[in-house]
Amino acid sequence: MKSKAMVLEAPGKMSLQEFDIPEIGPEDALLKVEMVGVCGSDVGMYHGKKTRKPRPFPIIMGHEIVGEIAEIGEAAACSHGVQKGDRVIVEYAFGCGHCNNCLMGKYVQCESQFCYGSMISCNDQKHLWGAYSEYLYVAPHAVVHKISRDIPLESAVLISAVLGNAIRWLRIIGEVTIGDTVVIQGPGQQGLAGVVTARESGAANIIVIGTSIDESRMKLAREFGATYCCNIDKEDPLEVVKHITHGTMANIVMEVSGRPQGLIASLDLVGRGGTIVVPGMYGMDTEIPLMMDKIVYKEAKMLGVFSHNITSVIPAIKLVESQKYALEKMVTHRYPLEKAELAVRVAGREIKGEDPIKVVIVP
Ligand SMILES: [Zn+2]
Ligand SMILES: [Zn+2]
Repeated sequence: MKSKAMVLEAPGKMSLQEFDIPEIGPEDALLKVEMVGVCGSDVGMYHGKKTRKPRPFPIIMGHEIVGEIAEIGEAAACSHGVQKGDRVIVEYAFGCGHCNNCLMGKYVQCESQFCYGSMISCNDQKHLWGAYSEYLYVAPHAVVHKISRDIPLESAVLISAVLGNAIRWLRIIGEVTIGDTVVIQGPGQQGLAGVVTARESGAANIIVIGTSIDESRMKLAREFGATYCCNIDKEDPLEVVKHITHGTMANIVMEVSGRPQGLIASLDLVGRGGTIVVPGMYGMDTEIPLMMDKIVYKEAKMLGVFSHNITSVIPAIKLVESQKYALEKMVTHRYPLEKAELAVRVAGREIKGEDPIKVVIVP
């Protein structure tokens, strides 16, 4: 049996290829990909943005994964707690299972950096290491969660790498709590998931900062619970936050604009003793000048945050399955596998006339 997959051969070069489906042993599984989200990091990868180590091209991208178990070994069925035919999501990172970080449960920080859709070449054994593909190889240490079939696929695809990220960054690491003022810079998919997370965590003020091109995103932000949306082309965000908080500024700033200027502004937006959560990704060749004494005098914290893990994905599943928020409204564009390159470019806002929030591929 073969699987079609869209391969990123080198930056800016994608092609549809066919791979042998790997043999599924007792500890392996095979996923029929039903939908995969296009992450902002996929856009960066497509353009050759520098990352933690050189990309092992050729790569099958795709780490926001939902699908159906097509085949599963006996040991894998036992360890993942799923069976053939179940609808599941698969987390981005999975550990080697034996390095110190893995043994401490920190598989996102595994020394081997195993993860889907970015750090394993499709030339490697098993080939199907990304979900821009009809089928995905589910490795023994992959983190798999069974989900309900009652929720739309468009919501399911956002559980791990969108909402799961926001819950980990803002709530688990950033410790947002009741009554907080949360400032979210950048109303993209992560920012919108941040709004939901902040609201669920009891934040009193949820201020979203964007620009004039973000109108449809801001509209959804309001619907999800943003208490104020600030367009920096029209208003000074510093003044807005100062006014709303009576000068005390934000308890937590989530910097998901992806722009160095956003990070620089975070130092002023955060209040005394506050926290800035920084998921980046500015590029491993980009240095950002920061006036660090602002952090010192405020005794503020600046925390790097990266990806999701089981501690955030489990609450994300529960929240999405509750259907309290119409998260599926984030999905504005759907493309077949053959159009993956266009999907990536639309997600990168490179196609005139398109106003994407979340782009997905349906292989
Ligand atoms: Zn991602
Ligand atoms: Zn490990």
